[in-house]
Amino acid sequence: MRSVVVGGGVAGLAAAVQLAADGATVLLIESRDTLGGRVRLRDSGNWLLDPGLHLLRRKGPLNQLLRKLRAPRVLGPKWAHGDMLEIGGDGKFAMTALTTMSLDSEVTNKPDQLVIPRGGWSSLVGRLIVAANQLDVMFEIGKSVESLSLGMDGRIRSANIAGNDIECDAIILAVPPVESARLLETAGLDASSLRQCTEHRVAALDVALEGKPMRPYSGLFEPESGILALDVTADDRIPEGADASECTILHAVCLKGDGDAALEGIKELLDSRCSGWRSMAAARRSTTSIMLHPCSRDERVDGNIFIENSIGMAGCHVESKHYLSDAAVDTARAAAKALKPHR
Ligand SMILES: Cc1cc2nc3c(=O)[nH]c(=O)nc-3n(C[C@H](O)[C@H](O)[C@H](O)COP(=O)(O)OP(=O)(O)OC[C@H]3O[C@@H](n4cnc5c(N)ncnc54)[C@H](O)[C@@H]3O)c2cc1C
Repeated sequence: MRSVVVGGGVAGLAAAVQLAADGATVLLIESRDTLGGRVRLRDSGNWLLDPGLHLLRRKGPLNQLLRKLRAPRVLGPKWAHGDMLEIGGDGKFAMTALTTMSLDSEVTNKPDQLVIPRGGWSSLVGRLIVAANQLDVMFEIGKSVESLSLGMDGRIRSANIAGNDIECDAIILAVPPVESARLLETAGLDASSLRQCTEHRVAALDVALEGKPMRPYSGLFEPESGILALDVTADDRIPEGADASECTILHAVCLKGDGDAALEGIKELLDSRCSGWRSMAAARRSTTSIMLHPCSRDERVDGNIFIENSIGMAGCHVESKHYLSDAAVDTARAAAKALKPHR
């Protein structure tokens, strides 16, 4: 049984691990030069500055998978949600906005505990890569899947990778909806439901501060502007010899949207609530637009639409009760399991 996984983000890696654990021969294709997907760590000197908040839900599918793989020391400190300030609100929405990173989700009464991953987000991704290697998953990095072909029986026959047809019996598309749609259309399949996905893009600011200007709060959430700013300082994120109680690793996003105005909004909120933060910045990265969710919750698609073609889909645009990386892992494992009887 030869399976191809398209995409080397969290969803693709989780799918590859599940397929390989179930006995398939797996080839994972990633078009960029590194695995890890949309959010990659960039150099921030001695600070570990993740791209975005990147907290882990303790009971979520990603942590469950890592536990199953016996990944060592994944969980860092609990994030202190009790010390979060909801500006102009009664605290009802802050935790839901934070767990789902959206403003339109239903308020969860008992949200899961959030944890700061040890070694940052890239270290979590690294553990999935190690597991995939141990299960003999093969990788083609820096190559794109260009098209798909079906056999006479309507099932996947091959994927064209950088000009070469690679035969396979099953495929999981773990790429954003627009790219999934493009690939499905090359095989003559109707991908109109994926074409309807509307990306939710946000402005984001990640900054390492030599100081604690957010004290006494662990986070700020302003429902009106949709701005969420968190202190996710941990010992392993600061330079050697520095004192975690005197530094801040701060991540902020504007959940209401992207663009220069949204980024300025974040900075203004920090100016008013974290006085002096600009002069404390030791490392800083900002983006006016990054895709946070590939679609809205009600645009999510059924991951099994193309299962009769032996094509599964994984990612946050596929139906799941989870959000973010947990949705990516949940849908990836479900796709791998659904393809089992079709191999
Ligand atoms: C600012 C920000 C903060 C976030 N905070 C959190 C958080 O606190 N907690 C949390 O759980 N999640 C968080 N997330 C979400 C989390 O990062 C995503 O859910 C996760 O990275 C999605 O992974 P994925 O594998 O589904 O998609 P992607 O990461 O987009 O991976 C898809 C991969 O497919 C590759 N690809 C595309 N087309 C092709 C092709 N034709 N051939 C081969 N490869 C291809 C791409 O290069 C990419 O590597 C955050 C995201 C952002 C942007």
